[in-house]
Amino acid sequence: MNFPPADAMTRNIGKPFPGVNPQSPQEMRPGRAFDFGAAAFLLDIDGTLLDFAATPAGVLVSASLQASLTKLWMKTGGATALVSGRLLEDIDRIFAPLELPAIGGHGAEIRSQIKQKALPRHPPLLDERIRRDLMALAEKGVLIEDKGYSMALHYRLAPQLKDRLERAVTAMLANFNPGTYEILRGKCVIEIKPRAYNKGSAVLELMENAPFRGRNAVFIGDDITDQAVFEILPKIGGTGFSVGALMQGATGVFAEPQDVRRWLASIVDGA
Ligand SMILES: [Mg+2]
Repeated sequence: MNFPPADAMTRNIGKPFPGVNPQSPQEMRPGRAFDFGAAAFLLDIDGTLLDFAATPAGVLVSASLQASLTKLWMKTGGATALVSGRLLEDIDRIFAPLELPAIGGHGAEIRSQIKQKALPRHPPLLDERIRRDLMALAEKGVLIEDKGYSMALHYRLAPQLKDRLERAVTAMLANFNPGTYEILRGKCVIEIKPRAYNKGSAVLELMENAPFRGRNAVFIGDDITDQAVFEILPKIGGTGFSVGALMQGATGVFAEPQDVRRWLASIVDGA
């Protein structure tokens, strides 16, 4: 697959459609088929496929995105996966009735094929003290999400609390061995998770399983947690695109989630 050079895509930031097409750097070329038989798509959800909502539960999956993902999954022989900090249960809920292979909980859960249970994994659970101390940070505008393996503090409804929350979380984790947990500072979210795994390690594992094995990975992500995937892409010969800003390791950038959705729709419909 030939991908456009990073600068060609970066120049398109903010324009109605970035013209991202792995097979035609300049413009979409109708009639040229994408080589789905050799590709695997790995797609972050929030901020990549979906626009952010006021709360994590408020996101919307349109019928057209459902249709694009279904076609993508079929054309790639099942090698299309969602890669998210959300748990699989939550991913399935928001995309229902569509169920796709997925990496959930930042890599705590991996499901390489649908109708198959997630691969048995034993990620370390959070220390009860962390759970208790984070719950104590609850206040108006702060939504605390307990994912079992990790905890997230969403402050999109009260962005002025960002610094105070970050200081509190940093101070709290200072009581633990620095190698045990990490703080992920995302877009209006602070998350605490064990260091033992991340989206990158999970993608490496997913790519060893059918139907992903041996395919060219195309990853799209937008946030700090996706950096771990961009870092491992060279190991698997994959190609990455970021959303919003050009991230290190990305070949190009989409301006917004709607551009990602438009691009996916265009390639699955044979453009
Ligand atoms: Mg994201």
